[in-house]
Amino acid sequence: MTELSNSYLEEAIEDSRPYASQGKVNMNLPDYGEANKDYLGVSIITTDGSCYSAGDHDQYIPMQSTSKVISLMLALQDFGKDRVFQTVGMEPMGDFFNSISQLESYDTSKPFNPMINAGAIATASLIKGQSVENRFDRYMHFLKKITSNDHLEMSGEMYEAEKANGSRNRSLAYFMHSTGTLVTDVEEALDLYYRMNAVMMCCHDFARVGLFLAKGGLDPDTEESLIPAHHLRTVKAIMMTSGMYNSSGHYAVEAGFPCKSGVSGSIIGTVPGRMGIGVVGPAIDEKGNSTAGGALIKKLSRDLKLNMFGIE
Ligand code: GLU
Repeated sequence: MTELSNSYLEEAIEDSRPYASQGKVNMNLPDYGEANKDYLGVSIITTDGSCYSAGDHDQYIPMQSTSKVISLMLALQDFGKDRVFQTVGMEPMGDFFNSISQLESYDTSKPFNPMINAGAIATASLIKGQSVENRFDRYMHFLKKITSNDHLEMSGEMYEAEKANGSRNRSLAYFMHSTGTLVTDVEEALDLYYRMNAVMMCCHDFARVGLFLAKGGLDPDTEESLIPAHHLRTVKAIMMTSGMYNSSGHYAVEAGFPCKSGVSGSIIGTVPGRMGIGVVGPAIDEKGNSTAGGALIKKLSRDLKLNMFGIE
């Protein structure tokens, strides 16, 4: 078995970087031009606290859909599993993450799962707080604790871009309002969703989220439990079945551990009991996954024997 080290990760990055040419950078994100296309970075933090990084690991990019992992944790914390899954399903969808037609077809308009846009907007609508600001503060407080990074913040420019490009998400939200799935203020739920998408993180922060999931919800500094482990079991199962858009089946087979990606090219990976993985690789495929980042995740799984379904 390959030993995990910074030099192994540098080699893995150089092996995977050429896959960036197969993807495209999401042009809806400000400052996300072709110049960023070849970036590829990774951080891995093991449960004993060792940290390894390589490539463009200190690049900050917006969380985009990786934020859906955090909002699901908060909603589970606030309402418990039964209530959350009355509002949103737990089934993989097999269609694009922002699909409208799928919303109408499933279970009286309940979105398929919390990892697609409609599901995440519905999940965000559950997060407790007196105002959007207050609910977003709770999100940031939780995220800063998990990552042990007090400097995390939302990019105002990314937030404005989310709003400006938000017609599709507004359609999903108002449709869910019309069916009674989304019962709180629609604009507030959307606003919270846009803010969460626009928080900037680097590989180390993404890896810390993966580590938090891998380590059963303990505060990385104090070892205090921040969320019951049974909620994390739910989150990891849904990441495994739905975290990589409509390539989730492929990643379950080829990587074999829970991951969540975002259209910024971010990926959070979590190998229960072993490590958290954070990847940044802005060129994405037509489904929304980082091309080089996805290749890297699969390579790490093979070389480091991370597939939980068997390592032969
Ligand atoms: N801002 C994107 C949207 O809401 C995020 C989607 C994603 O990363 O999957 O459409």
